[in-house]
Amino acid sequence: MALFPLLADPASYDPHEIDLSHQPTFDYWLDVFGRQIHSVLDHAIETAGSTDDARRRAADAHAEFLAWLNPLLDDPAAHGPLDLMVFDRIRDAIMHRHGFPDPHLAVKRRENEQALALLPQLLAEIDALQGEARLAALVRGIFAGNIFDLGSMGAIQRFRESGMDFHGTREQLPPRPWLVDSYDALAARFAAQPHRKAVLFVDNAGADVTLGMIPFARELARRGTHTLITANTGPSLNDITHAELTDHMAAIADLDPLIAAAMADGHIQLIASGNVLPLIDLRQVSDELAAASADADFIVLEGMGRALETNHNAAFTCDVLKIAMVKDPQVAAWLGGKPYDLICRFEPADES
Ligand code: MG
Repeated sequence: MALFPLLADPASYDPHEIDLSHQPTFDYWLDVFGRQIHSVLDHAIETAGSTDDARRRAADAHAEFLAWLNPLLDDPAAHGPLDLMVFDRIRDAIMHRHGFPDPHLAVKRRENEQALALLPQLLAEIDALQGEARLAALVRGIFAGNIFDLGSMGAIQRFRESGMDFHGTREQLPPRPWLVDSYDALAARFAAQPHRKAVLFVDNAGADVTLGMIPFARELARRGTHTLITANTGPSLNDITHAELTDHMAAIADLDPLIAAAMADGHIQLIASGNVLPLIDLRQVSDELAAASADADFIVLEGMGRALETNHNAAFTCDVLKIAMVKDPQVAAWLGGKPYDLICRFEPADES
Protein backbone atom coordinates (compact mmCIF):
# COMPACT_ATOMS: atom_id res chain seq x y z
CA MET A 1 0.00 0.00 0.00
CA ALA A 2 1.14 3.54 -0.68
CA LEU A 3 0.49 7.19 0.06
CA PHE A 4 -1.69 8.89 -2.55
CA PRO A 5 0.91 11.18 -4.13
CA LEU A 6 -1.32 14.23 -4.66
CA LEU A 7 -2.05 15.03 -1.01
CA ALA A 8 -0.80 18.55 -0.35
CA ASP A 9 0.35 17.84 3.19
CA PRO A 10 0.54 14.15 4.07
CA ALA A 11 1.97 14.88 7.54
CA SER A 12 -1.13 16.77 8.66
CA TYR A 13 -3.63 14.75 6.60
CA ASP A 14 -6.44 13.19 8.63
CA PRO A 15 -9.15 11.51 6.54
CA HIS A 16 -11.76 11.49 9.32
CA GLU A 17 -14.17 14.43 9.14
CA ILE A 18 -16.74 13.12 11.64
CA ASP A 19 -15.57 13.55 15.21
CA LEU A 20 -16.86 10.63 17.27
CA SER A 21 -15.37 12.00 20.48
CA HIS A 22 -18.37 14.36 20.47
CA GLN A 23 -20.98 12.37 22.43
CA PRO A 24 -24.16 13.26 20.49
CA THR A 25 -22.34 12.48 17.24
CA PHE A 26 -21.15 9.16 18.64
CA ASP A 27 -24.67 8.25 19.81
CA TYR A 28 -26.08 9.18 16.43
CA TRP A 29 -23.68 6.91 14.50
CA LEU A 30 -24.11 4.09 16.99
CA ASP A 31 -27.80 4.19 16.19
CA VAL A 32 -27.14 4.36 12.41
CA PHE A 33 -24.91 1.26 12.45
CA GLY A 34 -27.41 -0.57 14.68
CA ARG A 35 -30.16 0.04 12.11
CA GLN A 36 -28.09 -0.19 8.92
CA ILE A 37 -27.07 -3.79 9.74
CA HIS A 38 -30.65 -4.94 9.05
CA SER A 39 -30.35 -3.82 5.45
CA VAL A 40 -26.93 -5.49 5.14
CA LEU A 41 -28.37 -8.75 6.50
CA ASP A 42 -31.38 -8.64 4.17
CA HIS A 43 -29.14 -8.16 1.15
CA ALA A 44 -26.77 -10.87 2.36
CA ILE A 45 -29.64 -13.35 2.64
CA GLU A 46 -30.81 -12.46 -0.85
CA THR A 47 -27.28 -12.83 -2.24
CA ALA A 48 -27.00 -16.25 -0.59
CA GLY A 49 -30.20 -17.43 -2.28
CA SER A 50 -32.63 -16.82 0.63
CA THR A 51 -32.01 -20.26 2.10
CA ASP A 52 -32.72 -21.28 5.70
CA ASP A 53 -28.99 -21.72 6.16
CA ALA A 54 -28.40 -18.12 5.02
CA ARG A 55 -31.05 -16.86 7.45
CA ARG A 56 -29.40 -18.76 10.32
CA ARG A 57 -25.97 -17.42 9.44
CA ALA A 58 -27.39 -13.90 9.15
CA ALA A 59 -28.96 -14.19 12.61
CA ASP A 60 -25.60 -15.32 14.01
CA ALA A 61 -23.81 -12.44 12.28
CA HIS A 62 -26.37 -10.01 13.68
CA ALA A 63 -25.90 -11.38 17.20
CA GLU A 64 -22.14 -11.07 16.89
CA PHE A 65 -22.39 -7.51 15.60
CA LEU A 66 -24.73 -6.51 18.45
CA ALA A 67 -22.39 -8.15 20.96
CA TRP A 68 -19.71 -5.76 19.69
CA LEU A 69 -22.01 -2.73 19.32
CA ASN A 70 -24.11 -2.90 22.50
CA PRO A 71 -21.32 -2.36 25.07
CA LEU A 72 -20.78 1.02 23.37
CA LEU A 73 -24.24 2.15 24.51
CA ASP A 74 -23.01 2.34 28.08
CA ASP A 75 -19.33 2.90 27.47
CA PRO A 76 -18.24 4.68 24.26
CA ALA A 77 -14.64 3.77 25.15
CA ALA A 78 -15.42 0.05 25.45
CA HIS A 79 -13.42 -0.76 22.32
CA GLY A 80 -10.88 2.07 22.49
CA PRO A 81 -10.94 5.13 20.23
CA LEU A 82 -13.32 4.72 17.29
CA ASP A 83 -13.88 6.31 13.94
CA LEU A 84 -16.44 5.44 11.27
CA MET A 85 -13.94 3.19 9.47
CA VAL A 86 -13.74 0.91 12.50
CA PHE A 87 -17.53 0.40 12.48
CA ASP A 88 -17.45 -0.47 8.77
CA ARG A 89 -14.46 -2.76 9.18
CA ILE A 90 -15.96 -4.68 12.12
CA ARG A 91 -19.33 -5.08 10.37
CA ASP A 92 -17.70 -6.36 7.20
CA ALA A 93 -15.36 -8.73 9.08
CA ILE A 94 -18.31 -10.26 10.96
CA MET A 95 -20.27 -10.69 7.73
CA HIS A 96 -17.24 -12.38 6.13
CA ARG A 97 -16.87 -14.69 9.12
CA HIS A 98 -20.44 -15.87 8.70
CA GLY A 99 -19.99 -16.67 5.03
CA PHE A 100 -21.11 -13.36 3.49
CA PRO A 101 -18.04 -11.99 1.72
CA ASP A 102 -20.13 -9.60 -0.39
CA PRO A 103 -23.63 -9.11 1.09
CA HIS A 104 -24.78 -6.66 -1.60
CA LEU A 105 -23.61 -8.72 -4.58
CA ALA A 106 -27.14 -9.50 -5.82
CA VAL A 107 -28.51 -5.96 -5.52
CA LYS A 108 -25.38 -4.47 -7.11
CA ARG A 109 -25.70 -6.84 -10.08
CA ARG A 110 -29.39 -6.08 -10.51
CA GLU A 111 -28.90 -2.32 -10.26
CA ASN A 112 -25.98 -2.43 -12.71
CA GLU A 113 -28.19 -4.17 -15.27
CA GLN A 114 -31.06 -1.76 -14.78
CA ALA A 115 -28.81 1.27 -15.04
CA LEU A 116 -27.15 -0.16 -18.14
CA ALA A 117 -30.52 -0.27 -19.87
CA LEU A 118 -30.93 3.49 -19.31
CA LEU A 119 -27.42 4.41 -20.41
CA PRO A 120 -27.69 4.68 -24.24
CA GLN A 121 -30.60 7.12 -24.03
CA LEU A 122 -28.81 9.17 -21.37
CA LEU A 123 -25.62 9.36 -23.45
CA ALA A 124 -27.61 10.43 -26.51
CA GLU A 125 -29.24 13.16 -24.43
CA ILE A 126 -25.85 14.35 -23.14
CA ASP A 127 -24.29 14.24 -26.61
CA ALA A 128 -27.03 16.51 -27.94
CA LEU A 129 -25.86 19.23 -25.52
CA GLN A 130 -22.84 21.47 -25.99
CA GLY A 131 -20.38 23.22 -23.74
CA GLU A 132 -21.55 24.26 -20.28
CA ALA A 133 -25.01 22.72 -20.74
CA ARG A 134 -23.35 19.35 -21.24
CA LEU A 135 -21.23 19.75 -18.11
CA ALA A 136 -24.33 20.77 -16.14
CA ALA A 137 -26.17 17.62 -17.29
CA LEU A 138 -23.21 15.45 -16.33
CA VAL A 139 -22.96 17.00 -12.87
CA ARG A 140 -26.69 16.60 -12.31
CA GLY A 141 -26.37 12.97 -13.37
CA ILE A 142 -23.67 12.41 -10.75
CA PHE A 143 -25.93 13.87 -8.06
CA ALA A 144 -28.96 11.81 -9.11
CA GLY A 145 -27.05 8.53 -9.36
CA ASN A 146 -25.53 9.06 -5.94
CA ILE A 147 -28.91 8.51 -4.30
CA PHE A 148 -28.32 4.75 -4.69
CA ASP A 149 -26.55 4.45 -1.33
CA LEU A 150 -27.24 1.43 0.85
CA GLY A 151 -25.15 2.80 3.72
CA SER A 152 -27.44 5.71 4.46
CA MET A 153 -30.70 5.09 6.33
CA GLY A 154 -32.77 7.64 4.41
CA ALA A 155 -31.62 6.28 1.07
CA ILE A 156 -32.14 2.67 2.23
CA GLN A 157 -35.72 3.49 3.19
CA ARG A 158 -36.37 5.27 -0.09
CA PHE A 159 -34.85 2.41 -2.11
CA ARG A 160 -37.00 -0.12 -0.21
CA GLU A 161 -40.19 1.82 -0.86
CA SER A 162 -39.76 2.93 -4.44
CA GLY A 163 -36.54 1.46 -5.86
CA MET A 164 -34.04 3.50 -7.81
CA ASP A 165 -35.51 6.29 -9.91
CA PHE A 166 -32.66 8.09 -11.67
CA HIS A 167 -34.77 10.36 -13.86
CA GLY A 168 -37.25 11.23 -11.12
CA THR A 169 -34.40 12.02 -8.73
CA ARG A 170 -32.66 14.15 -11.32
CA GLU A 171 -35.82 16.16 -11.98
CA GLN A 172 -36.25 16.83 -8.27
CA LEU A 173 -32.70 17.93 -7.48
CA PRO A 174 -32.64 21.16 -5.49
CA PRO A 175 -31.98 24.25 -7.62
CA ARG A 176 -28.71 26.16 -7.40
CA PRO A 177 -27.10 27.50 -5.41
CA TRP A 178 -26.47 24.12 -3.85
CA LEU A 179 -25.37 23.72 -0.24
CA VAL A 180 -21.73 23.88 -1.33
CA ASP A 181 -21.59 25.27 -4.83
CA SER A 182 -18.44 26.06 -6.72
CA TYR A 183 -19.93 24.81 -9.96
CA ASP A 184 -19.15 28.10 -11.73
CA ALA A 185 -15.45 27.65 -11.00
CA LEU A 186 -15.64 24.08 -12.29
CA ALA A 187 -17.40 25.25 -15.44
CA ALA A 188 -14.80 28.00 -15.96
CA ARG A 189 -12.01 25.46 -15.58
CA PHE A 190 -13.73 23.15 -18.08
CA ALA A 191 -14.16 26.01 -20.54
CA ALA A 192 -10.40 26.61 -20.44
CA GLN A 193 -8.28 23.68 -21.46
CA PRO A 194 -8.84 19.97 -20.81
CA HIS A 195 -7.07 18.34 -17.92
CA ARG A 196 -4.11 16.14 -18.75
CA LYS A 197 -4.97 13.29 -16.43
CA ALA A 198 -7.86 12.68 -14.03
CA VAL A 199 -8.35 10.22 -11.16
CA LEU A 200 -11.99 9.44 -10.41
CA PHE A 201 -12.75 7.77 -7.08
CA VAL A 202 -16.13 6.14 -7.71
CA ASP A 203 -18.66 5.09 -5.10
CA ASN A 204 -21.70 2.89 -5.62
CA ALA A 205 -22.71 0.31 -8.21
CA GLY A 206 -25.86 0.78 -10.29
CA ALA A 207 -27.06 4.22 -11.32
CA ASP A 208 -24.33 5.95 -9.32
CA VAL A 209 -21.39 4.73 -11.35
CA THR A 210 -23.27 3.86 -14.56
CA LEU A 211 -25.36 7.00 -15.07
CA GLY A 212 -23.26 9.44 -13.05
CA MET A 213 -19.54 8.82 -13.04
CA ILE A 214 -19.09 6.83 -16.25
CA PRO A 215 -20.73 9.48 -18.46
CA PHE A 216 -18.48 12.04 -16.73
CA ALA A 217 -15.40 9.88 -17.35
CA ARG A 218 -16.48 9.45 -20.96
CA GLU A 219 -16.68 13.23 -21.40
CA LEU A 220 -13.22 13.70 -19.88
CA ALA A 221 -11.83 11.06 -22.23
CA ARG A 222 -13.53 12.70 -25.20
CA ARG A 223 -11.77 15.94 -24.28
CA GLY A 224 -8.47 14.07 -24.39
CA THR A 225 -8.01 13.67 -20.63
CA HIS A 226 -6.33 10.43 -19.62
CA THR A 227 -8.95 9.20 -17.14
CA LEU A 228 -8.31 6.69 -14.38
CA ILE A 229 -11.41 5.25 -12.74
CA THR A 230 -10.59 3.75 -9.39
CA ALA A 231 -13.00 1.50 -7.49
CA ASN A 232 -12.59 -0.51 -4.30
CA THR A 233 -10.45 -3.63 -4.37
CA GLY A 234 -12.79 -5.46 -2.00
CA PRO A 235 -16.57 -5.17 -1.43
CA SER A 236 -18.24 -3.01 1.20
CA LEU A 237 -21.93 -2.08 1.23
CA ASN A 238 -23.14 -1.37 -2.33
CA ASP A 239 -19.89 0.20 -3.51
CA ILE A 240 -18.82 -1.19 -6.86
CA THR A 241 -15.61 -3.22 -6.81
CA HIS A 242 -12.83 -3.03 -9.34
CA ALA A 243 -13.65 -6.54 -10.61
CA GLU A 244 -17.33 -5.62 -11.03
CA LEU A 245 -16.43 -2.37 -12.75
CA THR A 246 -14.14 -4.21 -15.15
CA ASP A 247 -16.99 -6.49 -16.26
CA HIS A 248 -19.48 -3.63 -16.31
CA MET A 249 -17.25 -1.43 -18.48
CA ALA A 250 -16.91 -4.28 -20.97
CA ALA A 251 -20.71 -4.42 -21.21
CA ILE A 252 -20.87 -0.63 -21.58
CA ALA A 253 -18.21 -0.67 -24.28
CA ASP A 254 -20.46 -3.02 -26.25
CA LEU A 255 -23.16 -0.32 -26.18
CA ASP A 256 -21.07 2.80 -26.68
CA PRO A 257 -18.36 3.21 -29.34
CA LEU A 258 -16.81 6.19 -27.55
CA ILE A 259 -16.24 4.21 -24.35
CA ALA A 260 -15.04 1.24 -26.39
CA ALA A 261 -12.47 3.46 -28.14
CA ALA A 262 -11.37 5.13 -24.90
CA MET A 263 -10.89 1.75 -23.21
CA ALA A 264 -8.99 0.44 -26.22
CA ASP A 265 -6.60 3.39 -26.54
CA GLY A 266 -6.09 3.81 -22.79
CA HIS A 267 -7.89 7.15 -22.39
CA ILE A 268 -10.03 5.36 -19.83
CA GLN A 269 -8.19 3.04 -17.52
CA LEU A 270 -9.53 1.09 -14.52
CA ILE A 271 -7.33 0.73 -11.46
CA ALA A 272 -8.15 -0.97 -8.15
CA SER A 273 -7.83 1.55 -5.31
CA GLY A 274 -6.64 -0.91 -2.67
CA ASN A 275 -9.56 0.23 -0.49
CA VAL A 276 -12.13 -2.13 1.07
CA LEU A 277 -14.33 0.42 2.87
CA PRO A 278 -17.07 2.91 1.90
CA LEU A 279 -14.72 5.61 3.27
CA ILE A 280 -11.15 6.14 2.11
CA ASP A 281 -7.86 6.82 3.82
CA LEU A 282 -5.59 8.23 1.14
CA ARG A 283 -2.50 7.18 3.04
CA GLN A 284 -3.29 3.61 2.04
CA VAL A 285 -4.04 3.23 -1.64
CA SER A 286 -2.76 0.50 -3.94
CA ASP A 287 0.80 0.86 -5.22
CA GLU A 288 -0.59 0.76 -8.74
CA LEU A 289 -2.99 3.66 -8.14
CA ALA A 290 -0.29 5.73 -6.43
CA ALA A 291 2.11 5.21 -9.33
CA ALA A 292 -0.50 5.96 -12.01
CA SER A 293 -1.80 9.07 -10.20
CA ALA A 294 1.48 10.90 -9.66
CA ASP A 295 1.17 13.06 -12.79
CA ALA A 296 -2.61 13.66 -12.61
CA ASP A 297 -3.91 17.24 -12.55
CA PHE A 298 -7.52 16.53 -11.58
CA ILE A 299 -9.04 14.40 -8.81
CA VAL A 300 -12.72 13.63 -8.34
CA LEU A 301 -13.87 12.27 -5.00
CA GLU A 302 -17.47 11.17 -5.37
CA GLY A 303 -20.07 10.19 -2.79
CA MET A 304 -20.57 10.88 0.91
CA GLY A 305 -18.03 8.36 2.17
CA ARG A 306 -15.10 9.57 0.08
CA ALA A 307 -15.91 13.26 -0.38
CA LEU A 308 -17.67 14.23 2.88
CA GLU A 309 -17.27 11.77 5.78
CA THR A 310 -13.63 11.46 4.81
CA ASN A 311 -11.49 13.92 2.86
CA HIS A 312 -13.91 16.85 2.76
CA ASN A 313 -11.22 19.21 3.99
CA ALA A 314 -8.25 17.37 2.51
CA ALA A 315 -6.00 19.57 0.36
CA PHE A 316 -4.39 18.37 -2.85
CA THR A 317 -1.64 19.59 -5.12
CA CYS A 318 -3.96 19.63 -8.15
CA ASP A 319 -7.56 20.51 -9.01
CA VAL A 320 -10.08 18.51 -6.98
CA LEU A 321 -13.83 18.09 -7.22
CA LYS A 322 -15.62 16.79 -4.13
CA ILE A 323 -19.13 15.91 -5.21
CA ALA A 324 -22.00 14.16 -3.44
CA MET A 325 -25.63 14.14 -2.53
CA VAL A 326 -25.93 14.39 1.27
CA LYS A 327 -28.30 11.66 2.41
CA ASP A 328 -27.47 11.59 6.07
CA PRO A 329 -29.14 14.15 8.42
CA GLN A 330 -26.14 14.37 10.73
CA VAL A 331 -23.69 14.95 7.88
CA ALA A 332 -26.13 17.47 6.40
CA ALA A 333 -26.34 19.32 9.72
CA TRP A 334 -22.54 19.30 10.03
CA LEU A 335 -22.39 21.01 6.63
CA GLY A 336 -25.18 23.42 7.56
CA GLY A 337 -27.83 21.85 5.34
CA LYS A 338 -30.52 19.22 5.17
CA PRO A 339 -30.84 15.72 3.68
CA TYR A 340 -30.69 15.58 -0.14
CA ASP A 341 -28.74 18.81 -0.34
CA LEU A 342 -25.95 18.79 -2.91
CA ILE A 343 -22.24 19.34 -2.56
CA CYS A 344 -20.18 20.49 -5.53
CA ARG A 345 -16.87 21.62 -4.06
CA PHE A 346 -14.30 22.41 -6.73
CA GLU A 347 -10.90 23.55 -5.53
CA PRO A 348 -8.43 24.62 -8.20
CA ALA A 349 -4.80 23.66 -7.59
CA ASP A 350 -3.63 27.16 -6.67
CA GLU A 351 -6.33 27.67 -4.05
CA SER A 352 -6.66 24.30 -2.36
MG1 MG B 1 -21.13 3.88 -1.16
